[in-house]
Amino acid sequence: MYDVLIIGSGPAGLSAAVYAKRSNLNIIVAEKDYMGTGQIAGSVRVDNYLGCPGISGLELGDRFRLHAEEMRVPFYNGNVCSIKDAGFSWRTCFSEGECIESRTVIYAAGTKPRLLNVEGEKKFFGRGVGTCVVCDGPLYKGRTAAVIGGGDTALDSALYLADLCSKVYLIHWRQDFRGNRAILGMLDKKPNVEILRNLAVRRICGGDRVEALELSNGRRLEIDVVFETVGADPRTELLKDTVLLDPAGYVLAGEDGVTSAEGFFVAGDVRKKRLRQVATAVADGANAAMSAMEYLRRFT
Ligand code: NAP
Repeated sequence: MYDVLIIGSGPAGLSAAVYAKRSNLNIIVAEKDYMGTGQIAGSVRVDNYLGCPGISGLELGDRFRLHAEEMRVPFYNGNVCSIKDAGFSWRTCFSEGECIESRTVIYAAGTKPRLLNVEGEKKFFGRGVGTCVVCDGPLYKGRTAAVIGGGDTALDSALYLADLCSKVYLIHWRQDFRGNRAILGMLDKKPNVEILRNLAVRRICGGDRVEALELSNGRRLEIDVVFETVGADPRTELLKDTVLLDPAGYVLAGEDGVTSAEGFFVAGDVRKKRLRQVATAVADGANAAMSAMEYLRRFT
């Protein structure tokens, strides 16, 4: 029986792991298909994590991972399919068939990219439709790309592609962008970037691969790739009967990570909070580990 099972190996999960390990707890981190440390791996450039200006998300994630590995944090690779309260302990089972028993759980599974749900999206996913510019952008050097969305991810993605592609369309369904104004200003100055406001994507068209986008005003844009960067939804489908969630599906918990279920803690983007950044995820992980430690102390 582990003291703590940490679900998720992004910045929140690894921060929790480092804190819990330093407190001498018997821990394990469960992760699904490690492809860089969580969502941060898809960030082109992180400029707001203290001490690491301009670092790529992938490199920052690698440093987090190395830190945890150097502390001998054990990892388990599997896809969680159920989490059950077993009375002063938790039983977490994986699609691969194994189950892990732990006295506490720190849930740090983050969010998953939201999709547009338009015609052609499913058909062309991975063949000209994607959500991660850092992952797939380099395949489209010298080609024409479209980026959908008005947040920081959309703006960062468009800026990254502007230096790679011959033409970039940034398409937002409103007039005003919620992303960083300075980045928007940089995009405005790029001759190969065209910003289209108040327009939605109606359809993604093509043969074997994406060839064009049809917009809500009827305009057809010839493109080679479209990146859907329209936010994210929490990975909490499995928690509906376990802890209280807000209407959008985020876990209700304060910064201590204490949820409505005894011994079940939460950290990172999956928690209801104001600011979802690497810095707040790392802080959440530390807090949740401390809460788990205090909880365990009460019963030993
Ligand atoms: P976000 O801030 O939620 O922005 C999503 C954007 O997509 C919004 O502009 C939204 O429109 C639009 N949108 C949502 N659904 C849509 C749909 N069906 N069709 C068209 N547009 C749609 O998500 P994000 O940009 O991924 O950022 C998530 C968090 O990470 C934010 O807190 C952000 O600051 C942070 N982040 C920070 C950095 C950085 O600091 N460098 C980089 C990336 C992300 P509305 O504006 O109308 O809602």
